[in-house]
Amino acid sequence: MTAPVKTLCPYCGVGCGLEVLPPALPGKTTSRDDQGNLLWRVRGDRDHPSSKGQVCVKGATIASSLDKDRLLHPMMRDRLDEPFRQVSWEEALERIVTQIKTVQLTQGPEAICMYGSGQFQTEDYYTAQKLLKGCIGTNNFDANSRLCMSSAVAGYIQSFGSDGPPTCYDDLEQTDCAFLIGTNTAECHPIVFNRLRKHHKGNRKVKMIVVDPRRTPTAAAADLHLAIRPGTDMHLLNGIAHLLMRWGMYDGLFVDECTQGFPEYSAVIEHYPPELVARECGIRLDELEQAARYWGKSERVLSLWSMGVNQSSEGTAKVRTIINLHLMTGNIGKPGAGPFSLTGQPNAMGGREAGGLAHILPGYRLVKNPEHRSAVEQVWQVPPGSIADQPGLSAWEMIEGLEQGQVGLFWVAATNPAVSMPDLERTKAALLKSPFTICQDAYYPTETAAYAHVLLPAAQFGEKTGTMTNSERVVTLCQAFRPPVGEARADWEIFAEVGRRLGFTSQFAAQSAAEVYDEFVSLTRDRLCDMTGLSHGRLAELGPVQWPFPAPSAAVPSLRDETGEESPSSPPEVRQPRRLYESLEFATPDKRARFAAFHAKGLAEPPNPDYPFVLTTGRLYGHWHTQSRTGRIPKTAEMHPKPFLEVHPKDAEKIGLSPEGWVEVISPRGRARLAVKVTPAIAPGTVFMPMHWGFLWADGAEVNALTHPEACPISLEPELKACAVRLVAI
Ligand code: SF4
Repeated sequence: MTAPVKTLCPYCGVGCGLEVLPPALPGKTTSRDDQGNLLWRVRGDRDHPSSKGQVCVKGATIASSLDKDRLLHPMMRDRLDEPFRQVSWEEALERIVTQIKTVQLTQGPEAICMYGSGQFQTEDYYTAQKLLKGCIGTNNFDANSRLCMSSAVAGYIQSFGSDGPPTCYDDLEQTDCAFLIGTNTAECHPIVFNRLRKHHKGNRKVKMIVVDPRRTPTAAAADLHLAIRPGTDMHLLNGIAHLLMRWGMYDGLFVDECTQGFPEYSAVIEHYPPELVARECGIRLDELEQAARYWGKSERVLSLWSMGVNQSSEGTAKVRTIINLHLMTGNIGKPGAGPFSLTGQPNAMGGREAGGLAHILPGYRLVKNPEHRSAVEQVWQVPPGSIADQPGLSAWEMIEGLEQGQVGLFWVAATNPAVSMPDLERTKAALLKSPFTICQDAYYPTETAAYAHVLLPAAQFGEKTGTMTNSERVVTLCQAFRPPVGEARADWEIFAEVGRRLGFTSQFAAQSAAEVYDEFVSLTRDRLCDMTGLSHGRLAELGPVQWPFPAPSAAVPSLRDETGEESPSSPPEVRQPRRLYESLEFATPDKRARFAAFHAKGLAEPPNPDYPFVLTTGRLYGHWHTQSRTGRIPKTAEMHPKPFLEVHPKDAEKIGLSPEGWVEVISPRGRARLAVKVTPAIAPGTVFMPMHWGFLWADGAEVNALTHPEACPISLEPELKACAVRLVAI
């Protein structure tokens, strides 16, 4: 019998383990996709510690996306109004290398930008960092993670001294109170939600608070749903802190011994009395008090958040203010407690570890820190000073750079900014100005490919071996189970080949992803994310492993015995989920966590007489990643056949929208026409639109035609979650 290949679901940051079996077994019925291709069989991996065999509809149907609309060969064109022509890898790579050299000479290295993706494996991320930051000499590498969780990164770094979620999924089953804010976990991180929901249902004492302007499936399961007005999160968080302070429900010993900055924070929360907060948030006073009571009376509070918090012009302030509540009540470093950012992309965490944003370097290092730059330059074997000392352009700043003619080469890999960037008309106009755009992707067509001069075919899930880290810091070896289609190559191989052609042969001498990984983990030594005990071989032997995992722990037996049970002989450092900061010593110089003192600012674009509604945006259960995969899978595509706008019945009546009618949504930047969905699940004054339809799937109904790029000044994450709109019945 063929042994299944172990890998990871390539969709979301939950990181569910998968087992893949070949499509055709003698005597067995086989399935085919709607183009007649034999389907690989995919099932949940019961041995994976994060998911324990569970998968949602996206993971279960992933095989149907493997052969659809694949980009098979490199393609090129000189102008965007010409058709693409198939070219050899040789021709495409030489064209790219010539353009890099030309731009370096004429505009400088800072005119070269790469926009990557949390879909990358860690080896892809790491090789791209070396190419851009070490060899070409620009920190202009940013990823779609900038749009997703960079506020969480900034919050963790500022509060704890380092990035890294301190929690783990086992906390879901050990908490007394789950505080979910800005996350529709039931639809966006379904297996995390399943674990939490089971614990919540089975323990009447366990409380669940959900903060969301919509009554989502997540909110429907809560003991307390706080349907706050969009943009009032900071009022709510400071208001809860105010009540805890007033009632004496805080951990003074923890605050004294483990933190700094409490007096300044106390001075801020004085300004958030409950009556004011309830009024600002649009909730009842007793609801606010109940939330504070749940926080204060619970031994172990676990907060969970995702884009509803991060995608905000005050995203870092929100993250730090959530962390404040944990510090104030001593809810960190123990089972069932802690601030837990749920990452969006499957390997956004690995990207953070590998330095995959414009301000960071591998091993949780910072571009601005000279010692950090020096440590990386030594491993990369590049001369001192090769890495620029300032952060490169963030995602939106790259679009601004294109607008201003400052970018001479724009390299997009495994992501689709022509759908996912804010203010799409401006984004598309900027893309049209690009003198040279490379689009490296597994699929064709995509919306971004329409703006490319060169298309490079990338290997995807199942076609390359590498690692990914999920939201709870568990690293999984994702094993290839079939060769790349056509002439597709792994992303890291493409970056390495360009590096060699630029003359950096020793820097890109690795012959395999395993060698790339070995070099990467060497840069994690003695860092918070130390994983020097890991290698591809070790991961294949042990199965998924949570970091930190320093080298001395490498000499351990298998995580599980052959029955799938945890082996009693396995040492605790492998068997047990590990939380960061259990010692209550943080990664700051004095080992103390930092309180932050932020006042509420509200939305960057509040509603006004011309645009009286707040549009909020979000994901649907069957959608992912601008539908580049899910739109090509019949089952997930059929779940959500067309875009829609959720409107409260009172607002629908006021504007004259009929339940089966259509509406035009207009913001100061653009418009979208879509079907009306009248529902009391959305509060009056707020409307909701899902976010994954680009012009390939629903022309004229793109949510980001409406959104704006105003960003958090610390994390530079745009406020994709809210903008002001008006509605017109059509
Ligand atoms: Fe994949 Fe996320 Fe679904 Fe798990 S929850 S199967 S990782 S999409």
